[in-house]
Amino acid sequence: MLKKFSYIIGLAFFVVFAFFIFKNANLNSFIDSIENRTFDLRQNIIINEGNKKANDDIVIIAVDDATYEYILDNYGEWPLPRNIYAEIINYLEQFSPRAIAFDMMFVKSLKSQNQADEALVNAFKKYKNVFTAMNFDNQSQDLRTPPKLPDKLTINIENNSKINFEELTYTNCRTILEGIINATSNIGIINVSRSDDGILRKMPLTVKYQDKYYPQLALKVGLNYLGEKQQSFEIDKKSNLIVGDRKIYLDKDGSAILNWYGGTGTYNYIPMYQLIKAVNGEKTRLNYDFSNKIIYFGTTASSLFDIKTVPTAKVYPGVEVQATFLNNIIDNNFIRKVDRGYTIALSILLSLLIISVVSRVSSAFTASVMSLSTYFIYILIAYYAMKFENLWLEVVYPLIFSIFAFTCTYIIKYLIKSRDFEQQYKLATTDGLTELYNHRYFQEQIRMQVEQSKRYNTNFSLIIIDIDFFKKFNDTFGHQSGDAVLRQVAQTLKKNVRATDVVCRYGGEEMSIILPNTSKEEAMTTAQKICNRVAEKKFKLAADKEANVTISLGVSTYPADGESAVEIIEAADKCLYEAKNNGRNQVK
Ligand code: GH3
Ligand code: MG
Ligand code: MG
Repeated sequence: MLKKFSYIIGLAFFVVFAFFIFKNANLNSFIDSIENRTFDLRQNIIINEGNKKANDDIVIIAVDDATYEYILDNYGEWPLPRNIYAEIINYLEQFSPRAIAFDMMFVKSLKSQNQADEALVNAFKKYKNVFTAMNFDNQSQDLRTPPKLPDKLTINIENNSKINFEELTYTNCRTILEGIINATSNIGIINVSRSDDGILRKMPLTVKYQDKYYPQLALKVGLNYLGEKQQSFEIDKKSNLIVGDRKIYLDKDGSAILNWYGGTGTYNYIPMYQLIKAVNGEKTRLNYDFSNKIIYFGTTASSLFDIKTVPTAKVYPGVEVQATFLNNIIDNNFIRKVDRGYTIALSILLSLLIISVVSRVSSAFTASVMSLSTYFIYILIAYYAMKFENLWLEVVYPLIFSIFAFTCTYIIKYLIKSRDFEQQYKLATTDGLTELYNHRYFQEQIRMQVEQSKRYNTNFSLIIIDIDFFKKFNDTFGHQSGDAVLRQVAQTLKKNVRATDVVCRYGGEEMSIILPNTSKEEAMTTAQKICNRVAEKKFKLAADKEANVTISLGVSTYPADGESAVEIIEAADKCLYEAKNNGRNQVK
């Protein structure tokens, strides 16, 4: 009964604890940040196993440090005149690539560059597989008026989920060359979304601006690669964005969680200066077949600064994030994070398992090992779920729950055990009728007292008490009344001795008191006091019946009357006998 009750209390405590965690935003985000790190760890382990291959169709053309140097040397300025990009596009189109995408923004440039810009615009007009980027922000409207963008750049989203895109709504936009906007609808945004710890784990597939949805550059390129002409998308109740026959899971802020393929250099990588050289007819080492490739242009030079921190690398160029994002779209392997509800359910299940192990297994070692193994098996499941199913099973909440369940169960179990032990100890040392210590305890104590007195060179006394004419009392008033008197005599003894004195039921109607550090005189005084108190006392037998009894007492003292427990008891017995013979109701 009490056992069940403690477990219920424990469980209630547990629920309050869980509720507290889930309701506390700071605690929640702290736990989330640890969970995110476990995600990074899992991703890195999976990558290091070496079976995960990035898509070979993606190639990056990088404005890296060498290219930046080359451009400054040969053109004397950055950005590179836009006609060079046009020439590069023309050069690449000979190979018939799938797509050419610029993870760069061709923003308005100096008036003197108008002709160069015009050449690039013409390239966009000419080729339908060239894509470029645009970026939203929340810049002050003092700086620039939020531009209106043509509808052809938007997509329609029918949102049936709980996602509200609040964090992915922007108030301003830095536009790119008007000519490009007029020439093409192949313009995607390159906004990112970071976790609280600043690490980039997610990418928005779409963001909101002036109440319309704009697609991510990689989504546009991906749709083109997949041959999808889709302009309208549904987000279903379970937060999946439906793209053709794929469901892309969106996290609670509306971003998709990326699956990573490696650190920097995962994708085929060509420094852009080699291309420029090739375009200019200079000798170059460039020997690459661009046919059917998706070509991503981006800056990786440290001075051009488009560097992110991602789960697999501290320094990761933005263009590689785009490549990874595209890779996830075309290979359909975004990460799906398991619902919080399921996480709680799993945590509770795990806790119940651990509770049942800990409460059943008696060995602390075995229980600990089994609990640890239970959690370890869960970790393994979580690892393989990510590896094979792209599923993110949270591991931190289950860990907290498990530790809590383990500790609580252990504490409750320990409390119950110690309570049982106390009960058993009490049962083994006390007498049920009088609630005095029993004979066995008396024997233990007197032996210990002899040892202690010997060791510390002190004395102690023993009083043995026997009720006078108790047989007759029983015969007259009945055994029940006899028992009542025994109980009351026991109480009287207890009341009239010190807390350090040990009062025992010696046997039958005989009782004994061990008085540590007590001389014969002191013991005699105490004995006489007890004798008087009993003689004066009216003993209650029933509601309206009272009677008097007397007792006889024998006193002995260590070491004067004996040097062993047996001798001391014998000496007290002898005195008691004398008291009886001398007329009872007295101390000897
Ligand atoms: P004396 O003055 O010489 O001690 O006379 P007495 O009748 O008390 O003699 P004795 O001490 O030998 O008697 C013990 C009696 O105490 C026997 C028994 O009837 C009674 N007695 C022993 N244990 C119990 C008990 O637990 N309950 C009751 N009611 N009586 C008990
Ligand atoms: Mg007796
Ligand atoms: Mg007696």
